[in-house]
Amino acid sequence: MIIMMNAPTIDQINRVLDKLCQLGLDGHSITSSDKTIITANGDLSACQPELYERMPGVDRVVIVETPYKLASREYQKKNTVVTVGNACFGGSNIPVIAGPCAIESYNQLYQTGVGVKAAGAVMLRGGAYKPRSSPYSFQGLEKEGLEIIKAVGREVGLPIVSEVTDPRKVELIAEHVDMLQIGTRNMQNFVLLKEVASAQKPVLLKRGLAATIEEWLMAAEYIMSGGNNQVVLCERGIRTYETYTRNTLDLTAVPVIKHLSHLPVIVDPSHGTGNWRWVNPMAKASVAAGADGLLIEVHPCPEEALSDGPQSLTPGNFAQLMSELDTLTTALGRSL
Ligand code: PEP
Ligand code: MN
Repeated sequence: MIIMMNAPTIDQINRVLDKLCQLGLDGHSITSSDKTIITANGDLSACQPELYERMPGVDRVVIVETPYKLASREYQKKNTVVTVGNACFGGSNIPVIAGPCAIESYNQLYQTGVGVKAAGAVMLRGGAYKPRSSPYSFQGLEKEGLEIIKAVGREVGLPIVSEVTDPRKVELIAEHVDMLQIGTRNMQNFVLLKEVASAQKPVLLKRGLAATIEEWLMAAEYIMSGGNNQVVLCERGIRTYETYTRNTLDLTAVPVIKHLSHLPVIVDPSHGTGNWRWVNPMAKASVAAGADGLLIEVHPCPEEALSDGPQSLTPGNFAQLMSELDTLTTALGRSL
């Protein structure tokens, strides 16, 4: 259950919390810039929700059955639109984020940025802090990488997104980028989720590689209950018994998320498949399934990439994909 309040006083909030507590319900108050809400968990049969609407300061009560409250479609019927520069996630457009897995040098990122922008990408990506499975693999250029992506983003005129792997680095990364990415391995790093909630930057929240849809939405709830509702979900494939592809891209998650939540959901077919050959067809399948955007790894010379070369498109492959997507999105009544 969620209790919405209109500019309440501290006293009014406490009266609601006390009433919930007397009935054995667990109440939490969340105040963001425009509203105060109280979430109540527990056995709702113990209380009469409509009585709360008679209390001073209370606007209305919404019954939300799911454990994620703020992320649920029950709480908010209309789609959330997250805007980052010219990219709008959750509307009729399908923004495409493109760039290399890792930032390797100014030239590598600049060349990629120019190429993907010319082909129609509206955001540039690149990792400065790389969460690698092996400690011996390239770990990213770190702060130097952040400076490169900030400079290239300005130079080519694209907003930028980069991954944050450590709560202690959130402030530094937020100073350099327009959107913070939480990677699959950190989807349940709750300390990190709480820290990005207070960074007040849009967040790209990737699905954990073994996370259920509910766990993924609960991760979004951590960010939203921390006062940041600018969350874009990203399906990037999950672990299954299949080993031919790097992951199994769960495209069913797209319509399911759109049913359960008002948050935008985009798809990353690069990590979802692990091989550049499958990126084009699965990008198109994602759009057909209703995705609100795409994230595609592009490298000017994939065979020399320091990370994820096998799944990276060349700028030429990417331009070809964008032109094919243009035809598809038009047929679907949407646009890139
Ligand atoms: C990435 O986007 O480069 C990345 C590491 O993704 P994921 O967290 O989905 O593996
Ligand atoms: Mn990658």
